[in-house]
Amino acid sequence: MDFPIERERMVEEQIRARGIKDELVLEAVKKVPRHQFVNESLVGEAYNDYPLPIPGGQTISQPYMVAMMTECLGLKGGERSLEVGTGSGYQAAVLAEIAYKVYSIERDPHLARMARELLSKLNYKNVVIKVGDGTLGWREFAPFDGIIVTAGSPVVPKPLQDQLKDGGRLIVPVGSSAFQNLMCVEKKGPKIKNRKICGCTFVPLIGDHGWTQE
Ligand code: SAM
Repeated sequence: MDFPIERERMVEEQIRARGIKDELVLEAVKKVPRHQFVNESLVGEAYNDYPLPIPGGQTISQPYMVAMMTECLGLKGGERSLEVGTGSGYQAAVLAEIAYKVYSIERDPHLARMARELLSKLNYKNVVIKVGDGTLGWREFAPFDGIIVTAGSPVVPKPLQDQLKDGGRLIVPVGSSAFQNLMCVEKKGPKIKNRKICGCTFVPLIGDHGWTQE
């Protein structure tokens, strides 16, 4: 399998064709070797147009969803961004191609360790991962220019909104456990602007400001 050609095809047919225009995002997605973020048995499907399972009953999101959420952040390069839900580390790698620094939080220690090892092997030096409840944000490194939540929440987690820089954006799926609206929360001075982007379905965000674990 020629992975760079597969990636090019994925970007043109699944991402650019659906309206993603930000060249920084398109270039980032073209660079990140997605096949390395999935289980060996799924390598042949890594560039297909759907999410794939990763350990712990979690998922690596559909490539288009990763690109679209990244575009919504509006990064220009040089920013400090936060991701909640590291999972495989794929979204963190895409962010790391654009942002100056990426902080990423994962509640599952096994996934966090695997993502840390892979990102280090791939030479991503600007990603820091910690194990914890991402609904609380990462106060030590706040405020952030952009925050992406890659799990579905019943509400916009207040600490994440509070940890946005003025002019910063928070992209978060909000809704029931079965269906969410992807929201863009923008901080403008004392004002918070909420915009619905599209419908989506993510695994649950479990934590103090998300769902309670059953
Ligand atoms: N961004 C990931 C990637 O690129 O592979 C996909 C993430 S997966 C859809 C959602 C992840 O969120 C899961 O790994 C899950 O363990 C994690 N998660 C759920 N609740 C969390 C929380 N409160 N804090 C941090 N991670 C959480």
